[in-house]
Amino acid sequence: MLKIAYSEVFRYSVPEKHRFPMQKYTMIPERLLREGTINPDNFFAPKRLSEEEILTTHTEDYWHKLKTQTLPRKEARPIGFEMTPALVDRGRHIAHGTYECALYAQQYGVAMNVAGGTHHAFADHGEGFCVFNDVCIASNLLLMRGEAKKILVVDLDVHQGNGNASIMRNEPRVFIFSMHGAKNYPFRKEVSDLDIELDNDTGDEEYLRILKETLPLLISQVRPDMIFYQSAVDVLATDKLGKLGLTKAGCKARDVYVLSQAKAANIPVAIVMGGGYSENIEDVVEAHCNTFRAAQEIYFKSHESGLQGA
Ligand SMILES: [Zn+2]
Repeated sequence: MLKIAYSEVFRYSVPEKHRFPMQKYTMIPERLLREGTINPDNFFAPKRLSEEEILTTHTEDYWHKLKTQTLPRKEARPIGFEMTPALVDRGRHIAHGTYECALYAQQYGVAMNVAGGTHHAFADHGEGFCVFNDVCIASNLLLMRGEAKKILVVDLDVHQGNGNASIMRNEPRVFIFSMHGAKNYPFRKEVSDLDIELDNDTGDEEYLRILKETLPLLISQVRPDMIFYQSAVDVLATDKLGKLGLTKAGCKARDVYVLSQAKAANIPVAIVMGGGYSENIEDVVEAHCNTFRAAQEIYFKSHESGLQGA
């Protein structure tokens, strides 16, 4: 069964002046339910990160400032929205959801977070709409608890996962692969285990060609027992911040490819959403929904219809 991390706290709304399209977190589950891709049983409400869990990855100083709401203005500004207790709480649930998705993926092959992919959060500060680094926290928890030995992060958000690269710089058990726009935020990039920089306007064909040249090799060389896949849709040509040229079909082909590779290699994959900032929210929601549809089709549909036929 496709387990999906989602709860009421994900629905936190930020003021209109912020560019972050929070409404997608409501629209995606609603659409998937309405069209019958999923049903309410697919959802699970993630628990909240404990302080101890946060401190596996973030500094005590940063956590203290979040907890006491004393983040100085100049440290809050790069995050992109005003820090409130509700927003901190939301982040703790989302990040724990990513960890729980990893555990569910070990059981079912794949699991998805309706949010997450907050890869711009560093150990000691947040930026780019990211407060806690969910994939790094989840990775640290898995390693610490003996639930994974080697983790591959496939980050296909159009922006480099600079927080991931920084946090995992000295962690050989986590391999960070980031494929992103060369001329895009963050302008001062960190060094991942593998960075692939794309030119502006890179289209479906070129994008998929590079991905197909890279991912199978990575899987065979890194030999992960867990994959985190950041399936952001800011690679779309319609994205306001993306600068690449993918169509929705190309974006779905990307998802299908990554999931098929993980499934063929029998490696559990936990999917986090990452960014999506197309002018029309419809493009964002539809492209994200395609990732859920792909997961259902690849992992569960053929199996279910086989059962029905039996
Ligand atoms: Zn992004």
